[in-house]
Amino acid sequence: MAVYSQGKALDPVCGMEVSPVSTNLVSTHKGRRYYFCADCCKQAFEKNPVKYLKPKGPFGRFLDRLTKSNEKVFGRARAVLPLA
Ligand SMILES: [Zn+2]
Repeated sequence: MAVYSQGKALDPVCGMEVSPVSTNLVSTHKGRRYYFCADCCKQAFEKNPVKYLKPKGPFGRFLDRLTKSNEKVFGRARAVLPLA
């Protein structure tokens, strides 16, 4: 189903649709609330919010999703930095 209702939010990291009522993966940035599909998306966003708030074309989102699925399969060794 691809119904974009008012109750849905987009994960700014991977572009996935998230239901705000069914997640506790929330981050607030400059007074706005952002919702995430997974904890790794939330952590990536909190490390560098500005990176993910730039508008992206469909290809950029596609690459992000590809990266994310690769991380699931191959691990995230390259992507993870310790939180300061
Ligand atoms: Zn996500």
